[in-house]
Formats: sequence, C-alpha cells, structure tokens
Amino acid sequence: MRSKGISHSAASGGSAIRNSHTNRTIDKPDLSRKTSRNIRVALIGNPNSGKTTLFNALTGAHQHVGNWPGVTVEKKEGSRRYHNHTIDIIDLPGTYSLTAFSIEEVVVRDFLFGEKPDVVVQVVDGSNLERNCYLTVQLIEMGIPMVIALNMYDELRDKGFDIDRKLLGQLYGCVVVPTVGSKGHGINALLKAIEETATGELIDPDAAPRDIQVNYGQEFEDSISKLQEKIAGTSDLNIPARWLAVRILEGDNDAMTRLTPELLSDPEFHRVLTESIERLNKLYPEGVEEMIADRRYGFIAGALQETLKRSGPGRRQLSEKADNFLTHRILGMPLFLFFLWLLFQGTFTLGEPPMGWIETGIGWLSTVLAAILPAGPLRNLLIEGVIGGVGGVLVFLPNIMILFLGISLLEDSGYMARAAFLMDKLMHSLGLHGKSFIPLIMGFGCSVPAIMASRTLESRRDRLLTILITPLMSCSARLPVYILFAGTFFPNNAGNIIFGLYIFGIVVAIGAGKVFSMTLFRARGAPFVMELPPYRMPTFWTTIRHMWDRSSEYLKKMGTVILAASIIVWFLGAFPLQEGESPAAEDSYIGQVGRTISPVLDPLGFDWQMGVALVAGLVAKEVVVSTLGVLYEVEKNDEAGTSEALTGALRNSGISQISALAFMLFVLIYTPCIAAIVAIWRESGSMWWAVFSMGYQTTLAWLIAFGAVQAGILLGLGV
Ligand code: GDP
Ligand code: MG
Repeated sequence: MRSKGISHSAASGGSAIRNSHTNRTIDKPDLSRKTSRNIRVALIGNPNSGKTTLFNALTGAHQHVGNWPGVTVEKKEGSRRYHNHTIDIIDLPGTYSLTAFSIEEVVVRDFLFGEKPDVVVQVVDGSNLERNCYLTVQLIEMGIPMVIALNMYDELRDKGFDIDRKLLGQLYGCVVVPTVGSKGHGINALLKAIEETATGELIDPDAAPRDIQVNYGQEFEDSISKLQEKIAGTSDLNIPARWLAVRILEGDNDAMTRLTPELLSDPEFHRVLTESIERLNKLYPEGVEEMIADRRYGFIAGALQETLKRSGPGRRQLSEKADNFLTHRILGMPLFLFFLWLLFQGTFTLGEPPMGWIETGIGWLSTVLAAILPAGPLRNLLIEGVIGGVGGVLVFLPNIMILFLGISLLEDSGYMARAAFLMDKLMHSLGLHGKSFIPLIMGFGCSVPAIMASRTLESRRDRLLTILITPLMSCSARLPVYILFAGTFFPNNAGNIIFGLYIFGIVVAIGAGKVFSMTLFRARGAPFVMELPPYRMPTFWTTIRHMWDRSSEYLKKMGTVILAASIIVWFLGAFPLQEGESPAAEDSYIGQVGRTISPVLDPLGFDWQMGVALVAGLVAKEVVVSTLGVLYEVEKNDEAGTSEALTGALRNSGISQISALAFMLFVLIYTPCIAAIVAIWRESGSMWWAVFSMGYQTTLAWLIAFGAVQAGILLGLGV
C-alpha cells in the first residue's frame, strides 16, 4: 500500500540493496566488511555547514576538482581506503532544499536520482539545527540511505546545548555522528557509520533507514493518497511515489517530469491532480507550500524538542519558552486539562442561549404545522417523527459549533500538536506508542477521519492499536446525548460532567491501549517524531472556515441520516395498527424490539426507549437523541417536538440520576456508528477487526455502566 523504502544499485557487482522497515538487515555477502568494495558517498548540506572541510578531512590529498557538466558549479571528488573498502566521496554543492529552483539544487537532485550514491552524508550545521534539518527531512522523505554528520558540534556545545544523538538517529532513521570538521574530530566515527550504512551491518538497528513520513494533516494526506495511488508503479525507478505526490502538490514542475508519459497523458490523473490542487488552495489560502514547510518544521521541532537538551545557559526564543511551559513535564498536563475543561464548559454554557432560540423556532414551527394540517398520520409523522427527531438534534447545533470553534482554535494556533506531544510522553511512560494521539485527538471531532489518519503511522502494529482505541475518544456526535442528559439530570454540573466524560474516554482509551499492547500487539513500535508546528495567531476567517467545514457536515447529516432514521423510528413506533388505532407504545414494532433487549439493559436501569435509542444510535450517535425524541413524543402525543418537551419527558420517565450517568457512559464507550465500523474494516484490511472492535466496546460499555450503577447503589444514590 505504501512505498516501502527504496532500492538502489551498488556501484560494483551490480547487486541491489533493499532498504525497508520490513527488511532492515541488508545481508549481501559481497558487501560485508571482509570483502573489499567501492562505497560511493555524497556529501550534501547547506552552504557553510562545513562540507568542504569534512571532505578534506575525509580524503586528505586524494582529490580532484572539476565542474559539473554544463554548469559552472564546482565538482570535487576524492577517495580513500577504509578497512578493505575504497570510499569514493563527492562534495555536492551547498543547498537548503531539494526544490529544483537553483542550479545547485538541480545538480544535487539529478545526482541523487541519477547516480544513486550508496550513502549520502548530510552535513548538518549543529549551531543552526532547525534550518539545516529541513534538508534532512526531505532526504528522509526520499528514503535515501543516509548518515548525518552533526558538524560544528563544538559550537552546539558552546551555545549550551547537548543532543541525544542516538535517539535523534532513531527518529530520523539514520546514524548521527558528531563531528568538528575544522579540528578533524569524529572523522573515524563518520567513516565507520558510512561503512555500516553501506553494508547494512548497523550497530544500532533502530537507526536503519525506514519508511518515515511527515504527517501533513488530514486534508493534505487525502490528496497525497489519491495521487500516490495513481503514481505508484508508474514513475521513474526508485523514487518513492509518496515523495513525488507531495512534490507535485507543492507545485514542483521538475517532479512532473519524473512521471511516465503514460501517466502524463492519462486524463484521469490530471483530473485528480486539478481537483486536489483546487481543493487545497481553498483550504490553505496562505499557500500550500507554506503549509508543507510548516509541517516539515513541525517535524523538526518535534524531533529537536525530544533530543536537544540544554546543558548550560544560552538564549531562548519565544516559542521555545512557550513550549517549555506548555509541554512541561508536570505543568503541561494540568494546563491541557484546563483548556479542555474550559472548552466543554463553554460548549455547554455559551450554547444555552442560542439553543433556546432554536427551540423557540422549532416550537413555533410545530404549532403552525399543528394548526394548518388536518389531524392524521401525516401530521403525526411531521410533528412527532420529523420535528421530534431532527428538531431534537438540531437544537444542539450551537453546542457543536462552539466545540468545533474551540477545536479549530486549538489546532490552528499550534496548541493541539503540543497536546499530542504531551500525550505522547504520557503514553510512553505507560509503555505505549504515542504518535497515535494525533488520530486520537482528531477523534474529538469524528472517529471516521481519525481512524483514517492512522495511515500516517509507520508500523502495522501501531496502526491497528490506534484504530482500535480511537473510537473511545468522545466524538462530537455524542455531545447532544451528553448535553441532553447532563442538562436534564445534572443541571448545575452539566459542564463538569461533560468534561469528565471526555476525560474518562481518554483514560479508557489509554487503558485499552495498554491492555492491547500487552496482549494482542506485543512487538515494540518504532520510535517516531511528534511534529511541533510553529505557533500561529489563528486568523479569524480561517478559523471560522474550519469550524463551518465541520459544522456543515453535522447539518448535512441532519438532513439525511438523522431525518431518515427519525422517520423509520416513527413508523416502527406507530405500527402495527391495532383495530385501526395507533398501538400502545410497548406493542409497536419498536416496542417489541425494546422488550426483546430489555433483559440486557434492565440491570442498568434503562427503560425500553433508551434501549431502542442505543440500537438506533448505531446509525449515528445523534440518532440516540432523535430516537428518544420520537419515542417520547409518540408516547405523550401532545406537545410539539422540542427538546424542552424531551427534557420534561426524561424527567418524568423515572430514570434515576445514576442511570442517566450510566447511559452517558454507555454512549461514550459502546461501539461507534456504522461509518466508523466501515472505516475500521477498510483501514485494518479485515472484517474481523471491525467485529472485534464492536464486540469489545459494547461489552466494555455494559460493564462500565453496570459498575457505575452498582457503585451508585453502594453509595446509596439509589437507582
Ligand atoms: P561548506 O560551504 O559546507 O563547504 O563549508 P566549509 O567547509 O567551507 O566551512 C565553512 C566554515 O566553517 C569554514 O570557515 C570552516 O573552517 C568552518 N568549520 C567547518 N567545520 C567546523 C566545525 O566543526 N566547527 C567550527 N567551529 N567551524 C567549522
Ligand atoms: Mg564548500
């Protein structure tokens, strides 16, 4: 499905080396240390990073200087012996990036693709890590076997820093060697790393090249996968399709020239491309290239935040200061919880007034309908079914919009990435892998794209683990249920209860992740980089647009799925007719369903309407509310379908506070909607994972709800 590293031919013997994370050890006998061979090495790096200095230190006097064919860019080549090998070294022109904008960049890029060196040594200026690593990220994305010479290490130390180079090597998938070119320090270690990388006999197997990807965010990733699918197998040999897809979306014409003529003349390919570019330009008005650069810098910042340590005094930057505060080991988590608490309090409190307005509007509408329509099934269908169902959910639109506004603000400002970073630390301390938390946090919005976002995880183990626990994050569709129940049964503490439910979802997700990683997925995951994109003041319109993008999905759902489900539930509740009359609720089709499942739900203190609502909620979680709306309306058959009526019906239903809490817990944990189940099926590649996920979540939901009820009884709260 994804490009698995690259293969490239060795200079001598013509044998192919294959580097991939599924096949880390490269054991070609003719490449081993004992056999002599040529290793072709290219030095690449920013101007003034110390390439030429290192080149001289590596090759001594054995060098000759020429020009690259056709251009006046200097070409330096040299060689030396190391163990039994001849190492041929080429000093590439200095570049900041691999976009083919300058002559130097074109030369470097053509060399990398055309000559395919065995090892690329990237010379990184240690005193300017962030900027130098931009090139590193591009090389990683190209899947090139690489060694990092962390040059100017003396300056890095002088600035008061130290770096965990082993961890950095694991994150980047290459060996990192500190060097001081001007003093000739680290040259032997560098040669050794070159040999190890060329022969595949790595001392630290975690530093082997593997399929590391920068996560460009859901929208961009969508376009990447689409293009990648088209490109895969059709491009020039050995260039990863994902890399080409990113470059093309970035507007890089040179990348286009690497595609095959067949693909270039395929109208379907151009359609996908144009569509993607138009969509991305709309989504990122500040520029797609800038967004990509942001993400790459985020990747770098994340890697450096993990590995770069201050060993002495030095000057700090503002965002670094903010990061030290917001991702602080002890302070970070309470701050994150506080922001979430604020968000859910706001969702409830600020949502109340506009909710009242919508309610009034709906009440007015049903009064009008009741007045103008003759009594009969049509009137009942419209008032009880459509208004009772859809109206019951529509009133929560303001709450949903506030939730999405908050999430957009947190995301656009760059804070969400910090939250994921914190969670990563927490997950690590539990022996789990934390990159999962990007999808998990997306799960606050909707499980479906969150499950799809697990694609950016590198190993299948991490992907499956994430897919299984993502639905436990409380998606926005569950919010109406909480607001209805918490508002009805805990009017003074509704915001806190909702906050508590969200946190409980996170806790259960982490717990389940821990259990799965100890049982189903025992292998250790690979280390990875958590991206830390730069902080940004969110711009008003971008935030509004992101909020609206999501809220309009909710509205769309209302007009389709929820409308349909409400009508179906109404019919099932109004039939079969008994002697020409509407049946008593318990005798309707849906009442019969309710009675059938009630033995399972009785211990939880749920009435049959709640049971039916849970079943109907499989369609979409909002349907839990619309179903209750329809069912309680059918039963009462008098008041117009507003959530006020629903609240009243719930109050009179005899449900206890503890059962209401158990119901919210059940909704939080039981299996997500059908769309999410399909997504799990598709992303895991097996129906059984979808079945398993439904099974474990529903069982867990029942147990937790039952536990809550029992605890309530013990505490004397009554059921
Ligand atoms: P190039 O543009 O990448 O080829 O960089 P050069 O090799 O020309 O080096 C640029 C400058 O950095 C020269 O003045 C070098 O002496 C100096 N330099 C190279 N390596 C180091 C190092 O490790 N530490 C320090 N302090 N200076 C270095
Ligand atoms: Mg130079």
